[in-house]
Amino acid sequence: MRISVIGCGYLGAVHAAAMADLGHDVVGVDTDADKVAKLTAGEAPFFEPGLEELLGEGVRSGRLRFTTDIADAADAEVHFVAVGTPQLPGADGADLRFVDGAFDALAGVAAPGSLLVGKSTVPVGTAAELVARLRKAGSTALLAWNPEFLREGFAVADTLAPDRLVYGVDDERATELLDRVYADILERGTPRIVTDFATAELVKTAANAFLATKISFINAMAEIAEATGADVTTLADAIGHDARIGRRFLNAGIGFGGGCLPKDIRAFAARAEELGRAESVAFLRQVDAINLRRRERAVDVAIELLGGSVFERRIAVLGLTFKPDSDDTRDSPALDVAARLHGLGARVRATDPYGIDNARLRHPQLDYVASAREALRDADLALLVTEWREYRDLEPAAVAELMAVPRIVDARNVLDPSAWRAAGFAYRGLGRS
Ligand code: NAD
Repeated sequence: MRISVIGCGYLGAVHAAAMADLGHDVVGVDTDADKVAKLTAGEAPFFEPGLEELLGEGVRSGRLRFTTDIADAADAEVHFVAVGTPQLPGADGADLRFVDGAFDALAGVAAPGSLLVGKSTVPVGTAAELVARLRKAGSTALLAWNPEFLREGFAVADTLAPDRLVYGVDDERATELLDRVYADILERGTPRIVTDFATAELVKTAANAFLATKISFINAMAEIAEATGADVTTLADAIGHDARIGRRFLNAGIGFGGGCLPKDIRAFAARAEELGRAESVAFLRQVDAINLRRRERAVDVAIELLGGSVFERRIAVLGLTFKPDSDDTRDSPALDVAARLHGLGARVRATDPYGIDNARLRHPQLDYVASAREALRDADLALLVTEWREYRDLEPAAVAELMAVPRIVDARNVLDPSAWRAAGFAYRGLGRS
């Protein structure tokens, strides 16, 4: 099929490459000329495992190309919209100006009977408003909402083998077209849920709200553990054996971040208020507050380990991205902790395998170094804030040799406390006895 993908960021670039991999003829459109130039050269504009290979294959096959000109998308049968929906400046709601801009542009070029498919995460009610907007602009294109559940770090696999497909539609022809797009994926028995616009939009918001709540639940237990001497990791293992609860997403630490969960739960709460249902998701305010408190807690533990102040102390910050296997530093707890320590007068040396360039754009005041070795050399304290494999695998004895004094805050609770203590470290996790 002829497919366009409007917006080629973390979601759209992967989606475009995956659609070409499925055999479709794909044009990716983005307003960012630098991004388009990189993608055209088969280069991933951000770090995502497996993406560059997939892009390269797509571009070489001739089935995948990129452009800044929406007119190049005119002959597509299906247009996916994957533009950003960031938090509004100074408010909690979603900023829909990129979505509106993309649909307005498509209204001018999409052929009658073609299908416009929203993939961006939007407040419930957006699709219905977009139908009205399209009709007002004289477009007869069909609309569907097909939320995306990919995880950064696993985006390629999640797009090619999703655990479910959700279609929000108001016309059977939309379902037929989406079934053709995803034919290979559906053939493998992938569950497909066909529903209305509002439910499809809410599925995505509800999934993110649930995941955020699960993380903040265990972080709330970490706060209680800290007040009682209990160990939150053992607690998570024990309750996680209950199949109704499950162990995944029960890792206490400095909480969630990134370009999705934080802004999505805030946008959900803001939308619920508009709907007169603020109380229904009032708990999400608590989920957000618990999450942000954990960053403060990591800083407090660092202060405690350094005997009351971080001022002028040399601190190695290991990790800057919001999660491993991504270069994304949007709302990253790791970067936030590094910036807070710097603000308190610490001499922070921060490192990350892939996140330094993005981190520098957000916090140019920090001192960035290329390796954990450099960050750790002569440090008074180390903080593990993003659980990259190479930091989890650090040898305590080797790290102790590099540092001025062996002290470590394991803000992701991924190290073995006994091994680090045995190597002479003052070790502190979060919520761990
Ligand atoms: P992003 O900021 O990385 O990408 C958005 C892209 O859209 C940018 O490259 C921007 O230049 C482009 N753009 C903006 N307006 C445009 C227009 N009118 N025409 C063409 N291009 C335009 O954002 P992202 O992380 O890819 O997220 C996109 C959407 O997907 C958001 O709604 C997000 O919540 C949702 N989502 C993201 C993920 C994820 O893991 N990143 C997962 C699921 C859903």
